Formats: sequence, structure tokens, C-alpha cells
Amino acid sequence: MRVIRSVAAMQQLALSWRRRGIYVGFVPTMGYLHEGHLSLIRRATRLVRPRKGKVVVSIYVNPTQFGPNEDFARYPRDLNRDLRMCRAEGVDVVFAPTDRHMYPGLKEGRFSTFVVEEQLSQRMEGASRPGHFRGVTTVVAKLFNIVQPDFAVFGAKDWQQAQVIRRMVADLNFPVRIIVAPTVREPDGLAMSSRNTYLGPAERAAATVLFRAIQRARAAVRARPVSAVKLKRDLEQFIRAEPLAKLDYIEFFDSTTLQPVETVTRGTHIALAVFIGRTRLIDNARL
Ligand code: AMP
Repeated sequence: MRVIRSVAAMQQLALSWRRRGIYVGFVPTMGYLHEGHLSLIRRATRLVRPRKGKVVVSIYVNPTQFGPNEDFARYPRDLNRDLRMCRAEGVDVVFAPTDRHMYPGLKEGRFSTFVVEEQLSQRMEGASRPGHFRGVTTVVAKLFNIVQPDFAVFGAKDWQQAQVIRRMVADLNFPVRIIVAPTVREPDGLAMSSRNTYLGPAERAAATVLFRAIQRARAAVRARPVSAVKLKRDLEQFIRAEPLAKLDYIEFFDSTTLQPVETVTRGTHIALAVFIGRTRLIDNARL
């Protein structure tokens, strides 16, 4: 497995692969890998194997997608552990650039080109985290230009993000196929996340409230459609009953357009963000 830190070296390797017609699968991450990330890596590996292609995993905590009061500085990082996990999965290249490599001039005000998706990124994470998706689309566009992948695998865990990326790729004609892989959960339903490491024992127990809310919504629409306003009210109350939890948002919407619905049926998408203590967690599912 090669570990590449420089943008120029990664791009040169990617361009040489492209010239030789080598098939490349890409998994972008912020590191501190868990089974959710590994499931994306395994999907990429399965897809490239029959074509004798390559799998590239990027590990980069992207500063431009964090707000000024968010957890960029304390986001968990352990490159050596991540490299061991990637090696065990048979990854070909880990691209782990430094901020200097990715954004030379950012701090000095000499980085001034951003990619902005203006529709799907407005609500939910976009509303709660101003500038977040601008950072995400910008870094993913940069990574696609550097790694030149044939396909990239994203997690359903960040559903809105995956739809925003799909739209960016369609709108800007990136020659990259976007694959969305299912959310991997702990046995008690908590979606795996690098941020789960922030949770103390009582918070860890309380954090299951996100999945329990999704299951409650699922049960509510099993027999018949229900009003979004009423179901939201019920779930707000359900989450309020958990003392360590503070709801940020719940939305019901169409899975691909992300348009909010008035009536929730089987197949409607739910997404929610909840603070558990200081830790902000998100989850979503198709009901
Ligand atoms: P992150 O390192 O949190 O930026 O995540 C990198 C990629 O892994 C994104 O495409 C996420 O959606 C995906 N991912 C994160 N957690 C999970 C999970 N529990 N199951 C599946 N994919 C995940």
C-alpha cells in the first residue's frame, strides 16, 4: 500500500493510471475509520477486483466544511491506526494530504474558488451548518480532480451530502459514477460515526434516541400515511423525553429531490440532527 501526502504526486499517479486505462475506485473520508468506512472500502474493492483496478482512500479532515464554532480542532485523528485498517482491507493507495498541500494560501487569503450547490444544500445540514456544503462540494471536486476516479463511494449515513454530490457531478459533468452504500449501525441501532467517540457512557446510551425515533416513525406509517406536522410533533416530544438530547431538526422529504412532504408514507425519507450533550449527531432512513 502506498501512502501519498502530496497533491502533485497523487495526481501524477492518477493521470498515469488513466493513460494506462486502469479502473479506479475512490472512498473519500475524514479518517478515524470505523466499520461504516470499511463497508465503503469493501464495496470499492469488490467493484475494482474483476477489472484489476485500484482503490484509493483519502483521509483528510477538511477545514472548509467546519463552521468557526464546530469541532474541527478536536475532530479525532489517528493516521497510523487508519493506515493499518486500510492495509488490512487491501487498499492500494491512501491519500492523506496536509492542509498546506490541499489549500496552500487558504490562511493567507489566497484561496478563492469554491464549488456551490444551490438547491439541495439549502435545508437541514445546510441550514444548521452555514457554509458546510460549500466546503464539502469544494473538497470533493478537488479530490476528484486529484484522484481522477471512475467511481466514488459515499455513505447513506450522510444522505443529503450524497444527493448534493450527485447533483454536483451531474451539473458539472464530472466523469465519476457515484455509489451510495447503506448506513452501518451498532447492534443497538446507533449509526457508526467518528463523532461517537466524543460520547460519555450516559451520552452513548442516550444517543440511541435517533434510531429509536426513526423506528417510531417507521411504525407510525406502517398501516397508513400520516401528517408530517403531527408526526414531527410526536417525535419532538419523544426526543424531549431523553434528558441528554436536544433536537436540532427533523424533516420528512422525498429521497432524491429532498423536497419536504406534507404527508408521510412508507418510502418517505426522514432525517434528523440531535445534540447529545455537546455532540451533534445525524441520522436518516427511508421509512
Ligand atoms: P466521514 O469520514 O465521516 O466524512 O465519512 C466518510 C464517508 O463514510 C462518507 O461518505 C460517509 O457517509 C461514510 N460513512 C460515515 N459513517 C458511515 C456509516 N455508519 N455507514 C456507512 N457509511 C458511513
